[in-house]
Amino acid sequence: MTGNEKVASCPVCEAPVLAGDIYCEACGHPMGAPTCASCGAGAVDAEGYCERCGLRQPTGRDHAETVLDNGAAAVTDRGLRRSRNEDAMALMASGDTIVAVVCDGVGSSPRADEASAVAVETAATALARGASQQEAFDLAGRAVAKLATSVYDAPACTYVAAVVEPDRITLGWAGDTRAYSLPDGGLLTEDDAIETGEITAWLGADAEGVTLHVRTFTPHAPGLLLVCSDGLWRYLDGYAFPSAGTPLEMAREMLRHALDSGGQDNVTIALIPLGEARE
Ligand SMILES: [Zn+2]
Ligand SMILES: [Zn+2]
Repeated sequence: MTGNEKVASCPVCEAPVLAGDIYCEACGHPMGAPTCASCGAGAVDAEGYCERCGLRQPTGRDHAETVLDNGAAAVTDRGLRRSRNEDAMALMASGDTIVAVVCDGVGSSPRADEASAVAVETAATALARGASQQEAFDLAGRAVAKLATSVYDAPACTYVAAVVEPDRITLGWAGDTRAYSLPDGGLLTEDDAIETGEITAWLGADAEGVTLHVRTFTPHAPGLLLVCSDGLWRYLDGYAFPSAGTPLEMAREMLRHALDSGGQDNVTIALIPLGEARE
């Protein structure tokens, strides 16, 4: 032993593997290979299919993950039934403030993926430089409205933004993207939606008079703030949130739950440590 050989384990057979080994000596599995976005197995074949669960591995926006230094993490995924991911998320730190924005493209609008991407980028950038929830929402709303070429071509998306400071959280939202507190699973937002689930508020050129909901409160430590799209929350009835692991591991586990439950819609999950859980 030279003292700097770190032991990892093979993702397939779990035998110990030394750092620098190209193959697992026990089963021959190549090390450092990509891992499955769904089941986590390190067995993705050359065509991009998982050898364990069969999922075709996502590319680009189909599956994206972000992790910040304090552990805050966000995951977005196309899901199993939609042809593309029209959810978008932004997660960024500004000093000791964490900003998370999740938008869900309105399925009935054109280029909904562009709407959500523009909204999260505009709002998160504004919030990170200290803009208020209302200012950020107005900027994002204008940016999304600008995408429209006519009343028949008005991209739209829902919106939820969280600004997490050490002693204060503010949420701003419109539509049915949500925030929850963990571990208790308490819902922190109220959907703009009628009983059938149809939303009554969104960002877009055809969304005049939409009011941003704003809520400010003190975080309960230790815990996590969950910000998510309906691709996750439609599967939360009776679900026991993960209670251990890093925020990234927990977000991946929640994504896996949504996919295992059918993955009907795009799924986006952001988890931000609160209070004492911050490092
Ligand atoms: Zn092995
Ligand atoms: Zn897999």
